[in-house]
Amino acid sequence: MSEISNMRTVTCHDCGKPVSLSARACPVCGSREPAGPVRIGHRAPRKIGIERLNDRNLAVTSLALGLLGACYGFATNTGVMSAIFFTALYGFIGVAIGVPIGFASNLIRH
Ligand SMILES: [Zn+2]
Repeated sequence: MSEISNMRTVTCHDCGKPVSLSARACPVCGSREPAGPVRIGHRAPRKIGIERLNDRNLAVTSLALGLLGACYGFATNTGVMSAIFFTALYGFIGVAIGVPIGFASNLIRH
């Protein structure tokens, strides 16, 4: 009994049983990483996946609105100089609006 408690053990992250630190796999549940993944926690992969999705969502939203603004700026102006100016302006406004919208949808998803 004391022998076991004196051993350097970790709690198996899959089944919660103590496993020797030197064990390659948990003898109880057969987990390949009884000490748990060193790099990231148990729920981390999922969270990272969501954040990646959010980043893409944010980029797509701001890009779409920026493009929409650019098209609007381009379509509503006849002169070349003003078309360029308003394309840039509305494009910027679209991105400026798209970023908070992307953020808001990220917050809702959480
Ligand atoms: Zn286990």
